[in-house]
Amino acid sequence: MKKHNFSAGPCILPQEVLKKASEAVVNFNNINLSLIEISHRSKEFVEVMENARNLVKELLQVPQGYSVLFLQGGASLEFLMAAYNLLKVDGTAAYLDTGAWSAKAVKEAKLLGNVDVIASSKDKTYNYIPKNYTIPSGVDYVHCTSNNTIYGTQFKQFPTTDSLLVCDMSSDIFSKQIDVSKFDLIYAGAQKNMGPAGTTLVIVKDEVLGKTGRAIPSMLDYQVHISKDSMFNTPPVFPVYVSMLTLEWLKNLGGIPAIEKINEQKAALLYAEIDRNPHFKGFAEKEDRSLMNVTFNLTNEADKEVFDAIWNDAGISGIKGHRSVGGYRASIYNAMPIESIQVLVDAMQQLEKKLS
Ligand SMILES: *Cc1c(COP(=O)(O)O)cnc(C)c1O
Repeated sequence: MKKHNFSAGPCILPQEVLKKASEAVVNFNNINLSLIEISHRSKEFVEVMENARNLVKELLQVPQGYSVLFLQGGASLEFLMAAYNLLKVDGTAAYLDTGAWSAKAVKEAKLLGNVDVIASSKDKTYNYIPKNYTIPSGVDYVHCTSNNTIYGTQFKQFPTTDSLLVCDMSSDIFSKQIDVSKFDLIYAGAQKNMGPAGTTLVIVKDEVLGKTGRAIPSMLDYQVHISKDSMFNTPPVFPVYVSMLTLEWLKNLGGIPAIEKINEQKAALLYAEIDRNPHFKGFAEKEDRSLMNVTFNLTNEADKEVFDAIWNDAGISGIKGHRSVGGYRASIYNAMPIESIQVLVDAMQQLEKKLS
């Protein structure tokens, strides 16, 4: 039987997607060729790319005037690309430092210009989302990280600004409704909620590009990728295909409004147990809790061995916390069924029984 996969990333994908993807590797759409051995310019693959792009537009209701790209280099390259494409020569960008990924985004942007870190939750190991910050006027853009994968915090309210708004949505894209029109650039590595590692989704407002006054290397220039429909160079055909399958799965499920409800139920079930069970405590501030990554600790670290044996026996995998936080992290992305969360809750209750 398949394990209950709580991995933070790469992470769980729907079983039917894995099955279709594995079939396409051997014989894609009955053309007697593998998906990964045909030209990316073939009619078959161009159709995959178009489908994937259209599904993103449809599911997120991307307005006119935005481009959808499937790039490579992960969200980590977007840390740099965002700055290359939006930070003006001698300009300043404002960053919200809400975790290790935000801090890495800051580091890359600093290579190109002035970075103003306007708020940080580093003082408490990033267990909350800063709220009382002021965004200086005249910055080129404001950068935030919608969901902090390592710490289990999530923005419930995005910054409001007259400047451009950029967001790393790697670990909660497609998990809840968002208003794309509020953002000028959204990026997300595929491997948290969309597909396998190897492609990065970028949604960018066309009119904000081409205004920095700097020369941009082709591979880092969104306008180059837009003009080539994400095929400036050979695209990551397999990750794009699997992402397309996952988005089809999501559409058939009822799209984002449907998955949002399910995600809320899943998170509520697990947080309720964390708050009820005296042997556990949540890591993130309650009001900032993530619906995707649930972080918690044992009240008494000495119970670790007993609890680890219990969840191992229950077929649970991937709940070890990030090394910087310790404890446990249950990542409950879109493809995680509520039944698996119930198995974890049962394991937590078993610990309680054992210790009473
Ligand atoms: C995983 C993650 C990243 C890094 O993504 P890569 O694709 O490995 O570069 C960046 N930001 C967030 C929020 C993440 O969860």
